[in-house]
Amino acid sequence: MTAAGALDDPVLCDRLVQLQGQVLAMKYHALRLLTCALKGEPAGVAGLIVKLNGCQLNHDLCALALEAMGELGVLYHRAKYERARGAWMYQYLFSLGLIIGGGTAQIQKNIIGERGLGLPREPRGEEKR
Ligand SMILES: Cc1cc2nc3c(=O)[nH]c(=O)nc-3n(C[C@H](O)[C@H](O)[C@H](O)COP(=O)(O)OP(=O)(O)OC[C@H]3O[C@@H](n4cnc5c(N)ncnc54)[C@H](O)[C@@H]3O)c2cc1C
Repeated sequence: MTAAGALDDPVLCDRLVQLQGQVLAMKYHALRLLTCALKGEPAGVAGLIVKLNGCQLNHDLCALALEAMGELGVLYHRAKYERARGAWMYQYLFSLGLIIGGGTAQIQKNIIGERGLGLPREPRGEEKR
């Protein structure tokens, strides 16, 4: 009998397939943006989601890898039993920083809603009605 691998876990397997779908969606979205750029056309709303989705997707991929590796996944800084030189843990934390840096995910969603989709502006505290 062979030892069970991470892909034998139906929950991890399901999450992997979902992430694979999101990676493919981002890939074809990027190709669409490339086509716009080559034609000299503005990307419009389509360009706004790249930072939001890209950073979150990176983070989710790393989270899944860490979970699949169990307690060994969190090791880095040349720890004795670290995997892949601790790259997944490093990227997990780095991608969290990127979700915040350059405008947090919440701010990005506001920008997409207000400037991209033309939704009403979020009420500002100092605004008089
Ligand atoms: C890795 C990293 C690199 C960075 N590099 C740079 C850099 O090179 N140059 C630079 O100038 N800055 C840099 N920053 C700072 C970064 O731009 C800010 O941390 C980021 O814009 C968030 O601002 P803040 O920390 O003041 O949080 P705040 O704006 O105080 O936000 C705190 C919380 O409130 C939420 N929030 C705030 N306003 C709204 C709103 N209107 N709607 C909904 N939610 C809201 C946020 O989502 C967040 O959860 C970096 C940050 C990180 C993590």
